[in-house]
Amino acid sequence: MLETHAVSDSEKDFILKGVLSTIKEVVTAQQYDTWFSFLRVSSVTGNSITFVTPTSFVREWLNSHYNDLFSSAVYKVLNSSREIIFSTEEEIFSQLSVVSFSPEEALAGKRFPEENYCAPLNKYYSFDNFVVGPCNRLAHAAAIAVSESPGLAYNPLFIHGASGLGKTHLLHAINNILSSKHRLKTLYQPCERFVNHYISTIRTNSWDSFRVFYRNIDALLIDDIQAFENSQGSREEFFHTFNTLYNAKKQIVITSDCPPESIATLEDRLISRFKWGLLCSIDNTTRETRIAIAEKKASLWGINLSHEAASYLAENVTGSIRELEGAIARLSREEKLTKNSITLDRIRKIVCELSANRKYISIETVIRAVSERFNVRVSQLQSRCRTRSLALPRQIAMHLSRKLTKMSLMEIGGYLGGRDHSTVIHADEKITKMSKKRQKPYYYASEA
Ligand code: ADP
Ligand code: MG
Repeated sequence: MLETHAVSDSEKDFILKGVLSTIKEVVTAQQYDTWFSFLRVSSVTGNSITFVTPTSFVREWLNSHYNDLFSSAVYKVLNSSREIIFSTEEEIFSQLSVVSFSPEEALAGKRFPEENYCAPLNKYYSFDNFVVGPCNRLAHAAAIAVSESPGLAYNPLFIHGASGLGKTHLLHAINNILSSKHRLKTLYQPCERFVNHYISTIRTNSWDSFRVFYRNIDALLIDDIQAFENSQGSREEFFHTFNTLYNAKKQIVITSDCPPESIATLEDRLISRFKWGLLCSIDNTTRETRIAIAEKKASLWGINLSHEAASYLAENVTGSIRELEGAIARLSREEKLTKNSITLDRIRKIVCELSANRKYISIETVIRAVSERFNVRVSQLQSRCRTRSLALPRQIAMHLSRKLTKMSLMEIGGYLGGRDHSTVIHADEKITKMSKKRQKPYYYASEA
């Protein structure tokens, strides 16, 4: 029955009950409560069965300790074997993917031999699911314009901004419209994959198929182009790909965590080409935008989140949108497990736990990293010496220590040349401002 029709929720429940009752016979009650009682079945296919685990830790544990037990329990219930997959809810959510090549091509089996180099796309990263606010209005409008008139509106479109602010989301949204509405042959490619593909092509010497792969398309969407920084050969290859596509009026969209001139090793000829089109940034989200995003994500995850609760989350989870999403995923999981709707009190506790779990690093690690990056000695950073060549690295160390360590302003100042708390606040504000402008972001600056 399973190969021929989609498995309904009640069939999944039936399978889960069968599997769990077999498992119950061979594990202790305590083991059962700890590892198995919260499991759900998310999908069953002819080849595999996916169990949803509450955390990635449980996923790892079940995988390494109980995979065989699950295989035999599933066999007993379904009368045939299945690959056992454990996955957290977030992973399942982010893996719901579609393929970017046209349906005709996929049906005809005419996929490119390099299909392994195609990144999966997330169908939830649509324009409908993207919340527009002052921080991303221009980037969003440009993305819509490109989706409506590929190759004509802005070419290339270059979107830059810090991590977790929606660049990849917009890129997928453009890709999905270009391939589904305009029927274009699109290629969404994280830059890192381009570099890997380039390196493996050096090994196989299969340049013809590499070039056909990238040039025989209607739109190229390259994500996180700052990853080109350390690979001159792939930048060179990308330059020629860019020229070919641009001359043929094919749409090119690029994202980066900083503007092109701040990517340390990017050649001027590439920087100037990126400026032929439109360059726009996504800035940090405002409170109102975060509230709207929290509400949007909650409705996607199917949980009831009052406006008050969304405001509380938006005010207290202020890092990247990814963190906000993590908090909502956790609420959704709890709501499903307990079958109770989430109270504001519970949200407060979760937010506290999330911030307590945030990984901190030691100030020594920060100072060491800064010393390596700027080629100054640790002892110089910690000295009272005020020369210009030390001032900027020391201020960066102060800024990073505020962000990444648990230390107080006084302690940070004490570690870095015996400064007082106001020096640390000044340094933090200065570097935050520089990073926002990102004309010459601090982590690329080599001179004071
Ligand atoms: P980036 O590529 O800039 O690092 P992503 O596009 O991966 O960031 O976004 C991180 C997460 O935050 C994604 O799940 C995305 O859907 C979500 N997100 C970011 N900005 C928005 C927005 N404006 N509206 C809705 N979701 C957003
Ligand atoms: Mg991204």
